[in-house]
Amino acid sequence: MFSYRHAFHAGSHADVLKHLTLIATLRHLMQKPTPLTMVDTHAGAGLYRLDGDYAQTSGEAAGGILRLAGLRQPAGANTLNDALADYLEVIDAFNTEGKDWRIYPGSPFVIHHMMNQAERSSVRDRLKLFELHPTDSKTLEANIAQLEAGRQITVTVQDGFEGLKTLLPPPPALGGSRRALVLMDPSYEIKTDYAKVQAAMQDALRRFPTGVYLVWYPIIARPEAHDLPRRLKTMATQAERPWLHATLSVGAPEADGSEEHGSPERRGLTSSGMFVINPPHSLKPVLEAALPQLLKTLGMGSGKGWQVEAQRS
Ligand code: SAM
Repeated sequence: MFSYRHAFHAGSHADVLKHLTLIATLRHLMQKPTPLTMVDTHAGAGLYRLDGDYAQTSGEAAGGILRLAGLRQPAGANTLNDALADYLEVIDAFNTEGKDWRIYPGSPFVIHHMMNQAERSSVRDRLKLFELHPTDSKTLEANIAQLEAGRQITVTVQDGFEGLKTLLPPPPALGGSRRALVLMDPSYEIKTDYAKVQAAMQDALRRFPTGVYLVWYPIIARPEAHDLPRRLKTMATQAERPWLHATLSVGAPEADGSEEHGSPERRGLTSSGMFVINPPHSLKPVLEAALPQLLKTLGMGSGKGWQVEAQRS
């Protein structure tokens, strides 16, 4: 437990898929001017250095977000897919000094960036963050404190699977509507995480069936990882909720003999997936347009590919 540090993986192809999907989903949900409760059950440290020891040692950002830097376009050019351009603009916003990207925002800061946009300023969105790692939770608290967001953002050093139960259903906004988005992004450091994701999703759907739920998972040779999307599909279908499942495989990298970090399952990770329950209707076409463009830049070798499947209820 706690050998996983997201700093090694920040800005990897897996983060790119996760945060692209998160931003596209939030972009749609935030068109409606009613408050959203957003929960990040496994928040990480919040901000990461791309030029620091962790990123340099693992090289994962070099195979992910840093490869995408060349896709940025001058204002007015529009050959880049909108969702991909939107994602790159969010990363750019954290890197205002100089041309090179040195900072990668983790999910708490991606979400905060979206809730902090001018058009959302009159909407009282709330962000609830959970992180258990003794060091990363302190870093997260310090990073969030700098935002001076007061009670709009809370950090709790607690098991995110348990913490989620206390937040659903979300409180009603003026007018009575309840809206929530949950990102569940465990490290899967211990294999019981797969069953915990499933149980937490089952419980969340019972407490608040209309919430938007995003689950990231690694595609690795482990039965639990293979079973997770299948089980989530069955669960969503039985609950009569629409779902979307997107995967991105960058293919096998060239072996370079470098040392790798993190849990054994995540070493050399080449594929991951996002499973979304109650996705916005716009998400499927958005990802179908963005993922091929992404793969053109991130794809490395045999096995590369992408897929988006979805079912409306
Ligand atoms: N969501 C983050 C992002 O996209 O930037 C990355 C999160 S990282 C994949 C998973 C995090 O969950 C790690 O920082 C780990 O310390 C933390 N963690 C592990 N088990 C946890 C638990 N039961 N509850 C809350 N956090 C946990």
